[in-house]
Amino acid sequence: MKLSNTLIWTLADSLVTAHSTSQHIGAVQHRRLTDLVRHARTSSPFYRHHYQGVSQNIENIAQLPSVDKATLMGSFDDWVADPEVRLKDLKMNFLNDLDRVGDLYLGRYMVMTTSGTTGEPAILLQDDQSWKVINVMGRTRPQAIVTRINLVQLARRGMRTAALFATGGHYGAAAITERVRRVSPLIAERTRVISVLRPINEIVAELNSFTPTLISGYPSIISLLAEEQRAGRLRIEPLHILCAGELLTPFARHEINKVFNCPLTEGYAATEVPALAMQCTENRFHVNADWYVLEAVDENHRPVPMGVESATVLVTNLANRVQPIIRYDLGDRVTLLPDKCSCGSALPSLFVEGRTNEVLRLEGTDEQQVSILPLALGSVIEETPGVHRFQVVGHNPREISIRLDVEAEFEKPRVEHEVSKRVKEYFDSLGVSAVKIIQDPAPPAQDHGSGKLRQVIGG
Ligand SMILES: [Zn+2]
Repeated sequence: MKLSNTLIWTLADSLVTAHSTSQHIGAVQHRRLTDLVRHARTSSPFYRHHYQGVSQNIENIAQLPSVDKATLMGSFDDWVADPEVRLKDLKMNFLNDLDRVGDLYLGRYMVMTTSGTTGEPAILLQDDQSWKVINVMGRTRPQAIVTRINLVQLARRGMRTAALFATGGHYGAAAITERVRRVSPLIAERTRVISVLRPINEIVAELNSFTPTLISGYPSIISLLAEEQRAGRLRIEPLHILCAGELLTPFARHEINKVFNCPLTEGYAATEVPALAMQCTENRFHVNADWYVLEAVDENHRPVPMGVESATVLVTNLANRVQPIIRYDLGDRVTLLPDKCSCGSALPSLFVEGRTNEVLRLEGTDEQQVSILPLALGSVIEETPGVHRFQVVGHNPREISIRLDVEAEFEKPRVEHEVSKRVKEYFDSLGVSAVKIIQDPAPPAQDHGSGKLRQVIGG
């Protein structure tokens, strides 16, 4: 095995790069990009075709045409750089089998699907190098976690991690946690994946008995836990909270801080670029630019100046060869910050402007209000065969409507019926049984302001 393929090398390289100059990081990034593009051109039929007419000499990443999820998913078998990977087989023999969450497809690829905020689900494979980078970045770069956490308390009370994500599928964060559990029995013993699809009182009871010292989860569930803690039903004392998957609003951050009184760190990533950026002690996101490229661009994919909010971002994953992600439209609005961050990191920093799904407040039994998490509801709908895109609109605590785009080979009325049935079952499990679910024949509508599709809009 080449030295550059080992975990130790990835770890040492990450530590050296984190303390180097922006020029050095730029040079590393360019070298890796050149290698990745060469690989994509030779091993991915999709990119070979997509890059026809593009110079062999890539001086600037903007020479390459961008890609989006719909195009790549539509050419899945041509997109992947391993001819043994076939979408049909992957779906039938792997994704449909929930016992295989966190397992390796073909004995060599970690598999994750997107959920919730992104509309059409994507299926992403990570090869060995990409998995090493996810692990190493997760351990070496989030300086905010290492410096903020009370390590004496952690040593005294013991590490017990509660990971609160949507389960029941191969979703990003849950699949990564399950993979880590499979690789390390020690971590498996001390890590519990708790599904946010369960009723909140069950989640609270499990947390009260598990007494986690570390918590990770979507901001919407963490906010709900803060409400439960304030009401006295939840009684935990976490030493650190990591939020991921959705954007934390300043109000929610303030509330969580007030109730739990422990450090809170946000990740900014996506299943396509799993270790894209991490928050520093100054609350900025730093892009791990040695392994990921992030371009802030306007709606025509031209770069926007530093300090100006972008229309979207294009991301490139330099670590993953099996399924090249090169100038991929992620859809988030960000502002790249021109000045050097006072935390000392030479990695580029940014603010994220947001993903804008909302928590639905619905009426439960005994007229109690039940909060429905957008990512949880999204995963219930997206798991239904035939759903291409969806949007849920909450009109009032007793009525919601669902808009669906259905895949061409499916009959819309059947898919609508199945979605209504699944959502009703999910609501029933939460004690929300009097809510009327309407199928709106209109397609999901984009937000007038941002142009983004909001999957869940509160009433
Ligand atoms: Zn910083």
